[in-house]
Amino acid sequence: MPTGLYIGGQWRAAAKTMPVLDPSTGQELCAVADAGPGDGLAALTAAADAQAAWARTPARERSEILMRAHRLLIEDADRLGLIATLEMGKPLAEARGEITYAAEFFRWFAEEAVRLDGGYMPAPGGGSRFLVTRQPVGPSLLITPWNFPMAMGTRKIGPALAAGCTCVVKPAEQTPLCTLALADILERAGVPAGVVNVVTTSDPGALMTPMILDERSRKLSFTGSTAVGKKLLEQCAQTVMRTSMELGGNAPFIVFDDADLDAAVDGAMAAKMRNIGQACTAANRIYVQRTVLDDFAERLTKRMAALPLGRGTEPGVVVGPLIDTDAVAKVTDLVADARTRGAKVLLGGETLDGPGNFYPATVLVDVPDDADMCRTEIFGPVAAITGFDTEDEVVDRANDTPYGLVSYVYTESLRRGLRVCEALDTGMVGLNQGVVSNPAAPFGGVKESGLGREGGLTGIDEFLETKYIGVQL
Ligand code: NAP
Repeated sequence: MPTGLYIGGQWRAAAKTMPVLDPSTGQELCAVADAGPGDGLAALTAAADAQAAWARTPARERSEILMRAHRLLIEDADRLGLIATLEMGKPLAEARGEITYAAEFFRWFAEEAVRLDGGYMPAPGGGSRFLVTRQPVGPSLLITPWNFPMAMGTRKIGPALAAGCTCVVKPAEQTPLCTLALADILERAGVPAGVVNVVTTSDPGALMTPMILDERSRKLSFTGSTAVGKKLLEQCAQTVMRTSMELGGNAPFIVFDDADLDAAVDGAMAAKMRNIGQACTAANRIYVQRTVLDDFAERLTKRMAALPLGRGTEPGVVVGPLIDTDAVAKVTDLVADARTRGAKVLLGGETLDGPGNFYPATVLVDVPDDADMCRTEIFGPVAAITGFDTEDEVVDRANDTPYGLVSYVYTESLRRGLRVCEALDTGMVGLNQGVVSNPAAPFGGVKESGLGREGGLTGIDEFLETKYIGVQL
């Protein structure tokens, strides 16, 4: 298991190390390199030096390397899933699912690498011709969060490599092991030295700021919180650097009274409990039309009560630990705040004794709109249910947030479903489905949830510049 920095195709130590903790025990799993600013600039130099040759590498060759990486990830899914569970806490079955999902980004972008298009057209005024071609944007900085430690990496590395960009990847401090394992896999798949570099650190600002301000960096692709994303956008403004931002969410999950309630409960379980509630796509505010509110809440509570809690490596566990003690404290405070504002607890709601960062599956009903948990990401296994009466009312309440990543709508009426999907201010909507993540679809948000899209037909565009060549005949 690599634990060093991966720079220019070599594994190397840093001056310091930092611990990686198991969130289900609080104990140290191992130590990894803790990079400083000099290491970051060395990684950027390696990426910049490798850029021209990688851009010239035929697209078919880049594609085949990504295909091999896809296969290696799939073949190694058990081991990689275990690494994800150990450092992040999610149950093993979910962790293996994440590895498969992560691998799909490589396959999708391997297929996209060979399909870049261009154009040739006469100028409207006659005489000259327009040639339009697309070129890699250049060395890219990729910053990923801890909640999907493998998939958030491949979702950026896949399109970067397919487009012909080299990169420096900085994973989250809490989950560096998946990205280090991925670097090893990419090397075995044939990625040349310097094309992918990985730096791990406990001081991301000190490491990344000099790299972001360095004019050799041409792109920043960030997934994480809106607060950090805003800071990074300010830094990127210094060099007018291209950016992609996948930021926080506050997803409304809307159940109309004509919905198939069994399907709606299934969808709510998936949208709420994926990743122990720690997903940017998590159902944060569950709005249920009042005529079916009690029925829905009772069914959801029964399902949530049946979820086994424990260490993610134990068979059958669904509710693993949260990432750290701060996450438990945040969820505890949000539940206490909702209760003082009148929410009723149908399940859970008590903090558990350690060891490990566990919080029980919890269901609250009658959560008022001014509760803190309706305004911020809960990021835990807490379902916050509230009633509504009319379509206009629920659309207004759902849109009353600075975030706009995803929303979910359950109704059997096609007209109402499409009307509400169009009216919701989010980049994605699940209509009668509780999971929207798919490498072949354009993932991303509007408002303070982000800029740009990852995956889908447009995902590769984030790493390409369009060049127009005027030709005088
Ligand atoms: P975070 O605190 O913003 O951290 C994200 C990444 O940014 C980590 O690698 C972090 O490093 C790094 N970082 C922090 N401060 C930095 C700085 N000053 N300069 C450069 N890098 C810096 O977010 P998180 O808590 O890890 O992740 C949860 C958030 O991500 C949630 O808001 C969630 O909604 C969002 N998310 C969004 C998507 C999406 O696709 N829209 C997907 C997944 C998650 P350290 O780990 O060392 O702090």
